[in-house]
Amino acid sequence: MKKNRRGPSVSSTRLLACPACQGEDIDIESSAELGMTKATCLDCGHSYARRCCEENMPRYWNAHVREANTNSDKPKEA
Ligand SMILES: [Zn+2]
Repeated sequence: MKKNRRGPSVSSTRLLACPACQGEDIDIESSAELGMTKATCLDCGHSYARRCCEENMPRYWNAHVREANTNSDKPKEA
């Protein structure tokens, strides 16, 4: 893949795929009222919320995905 430096300047951190369905459509939204930011997989609805600002969410999401993938040895829950 080529390194293209175009695209929106939203975040330089690439979001990992959803740990539940491997979907890559991750939506990040923050609530100023609650001071919470939530990342939601648009494919399966898996979400992860955290008290942080939107800018930091990609890092927390990625950590969440890695942890979930690490624990994915156990049988799938329905
Ligand atoms: Zn998903």
